[in-house]
Amino acid sequence: MSSSEILAALGLSGDVLSGGMLPVRSPVDGAVIAQLREATVADAGAAAAAAAEAFKVWRSVPAPRRGELVRLLGEELRAAKAELGRLVSLEAGKILQEGLGEVQEMIDICDFAVGLSRQLYGLTIASERPGHRMMETWHPLGPTLIISAFNFPVAVWSWNAALALVCGNPVIWKPSEKTPLTALACGKILEKALARFGDAPANLSQILIGGRAVGEALVDDERIALVSATGSTRMGRQVGPRVAKRFGRSILELGGNNAMIVTPSADLDLAVRAIVFSAIGTCGQRCTSLRRLIVHESVKDALLPKLKAAYASAPVGSPLDAGTLVGPLVDLDSYHRMQGALEAARAEGGTVTGGERLLEDRFPNAAYIRPAIAEMPGQTDIVRAETFAPILYVMTYTDFETAIALQNDVPQGLSSCIFTNDVREAETFLSAAGSDCGIANVNIGPSGAEIGGAFGGEKETGGGRESGSDAWKAYMRRATNTVNYSRALPLAQGISFDL
Ligand code: NAD
Repeated sequence: MSSSEILAALGLSGDVLSGGMLPVRSPVDGAVIAQLREATVADAGAAAAAAAEAFKVWRSVPAPRRGELVRLLGEELRAAKAELGRLVSLEAGKILQEGLGEVQEMIDICDFAVGLSRQLYGLTIASERPGHRMMETWHPLGPTLIISAFNFPVAVWSWNAALALVCGNPVIWKPSEKTPLTALACGKILEKALARFGDAPANLSQILIGGRAVGEALVDDERIALVSATGSTRMGRQVGPRVAKRFGRSILELGGNNAMIVTPSADLDLAVRAIVFSAIGTCGQRCTSLRRLIVHESVKDALLPKLKAAYASAPVGSPLDAGTLVGPLVDLDSYHRMQGALEAARAEGGTVTGGERLLEDRFPNAAYIRPAIAEMPGQTDIVRAETFAPILYVMTYTDFETAIALQNDVPQGLSSCIFTNDVREAETFLSAAGSDCGIANVNIGPSGAEIGGAFGGEKETGGGRESGSDAWKAYMRRATNTVNYSRALPLAQGISFDL
């Protein structure tokens, strides 16, 4: 299928794809597949105003009815799964299996949100005053801005949009400037659900194509109650303070530097499979990709040869070809950053295997590489930084406390895991004195989370939580209510205030 056929299958063709100043390149071959018009700062203001109007209507629609819209969205996504998964591959460069997996994640969160639409529960609370009742209610918060990164071009939108919509909030989506076509395709899919739904307010969902300028205009707009921003820590450092300055709310989902500890009792075959999937899957461009391997010195020699053999044989190629396990990096800039990191690793005493460019003859404008393993003398500066590419830094440890200290001694705090069959080690790793990350796993890699759990991380990862568990509470405002059904007016804390 050509890129225009893939786009046409999702209703994208003609003027929408041409005439603008924003080139959209496919990482598959570096070719420009569309030239889009970017939204202006004025468009951002108009979108915020329209979302504020939509909010006045949507907040009063009963939550289970709002859930019906998300149920229909889930149905439309099921129908479009194959086409949208293929477009994710084309535009983000991830292999088809992962493109389809990402769309499945969208369907899963829709199912979750539909159930949630009947479970937006508050508490009832015992009052200290006679004839009084206390409770809390959860109300819609307001227009929600979703800023997303290129590497999960559609799932991140759905995590946020499905929850925001059932919680009563209109959504504005500012997708990555590297992956705007998947966003436009999702817009078409949601349009179908809205048409079947019938009476949703206009502008309940809007998409603004563009980069930092339009993003900042939206971030600064006081009509936007919640900014959910996914991307680099650099972006979060800009967005977080701007939202805080106007007392808006934010959910920040930023960079990770995820580790695995492999202990002497670990099942090494299981560990190798988990390492390979989480370190080279999506060409190392997941926020949860495995970047640091902390191996007990007694198992390093058994583990590393197996790992190097798997790395050498992993099929690298077009993500659209069946059989490929490693697609390209998103662009050549990313390739140069990877080479810079490998240079730094060598300068800091590391020994690098892999990392070379592949398939340059066939794809001169794309960035195919052999994933790299860098054996390091310790946790040097480059190991502590997130390089968004498949580089696995390997370090050894002798005592368990040191392994946990190494795992925690990075600025980021997204995902982590341990491979062990020792219950003491596993439980210590999960305890308050263990991993300091938002995600901590045992005998499973750091990537590939399910939507049922809350997703996010600590420290420079930003502290936000999305997706499952009670992450929905960030999309609503809590009101504490006290009702007096007595004929007296007793004051709390026994205070006497009689005239
Ligand atoms: P990026 O930070 O370059 O861009 C992300 C988004 O932020 C884009 O839409 C971009 O236009 C926007 N943006 C950038 N500066 C902005 C500003 N000042 N104001 C408003 N918007 C702004 O990130 P990327 O290269 O697309 O994605 C890779 C990064 O995202 C990695 O660091 C990865 O770890 C992270 N990521 C984190 C998660 C998570 O859930 N924690 C998920 C996916 C990706």
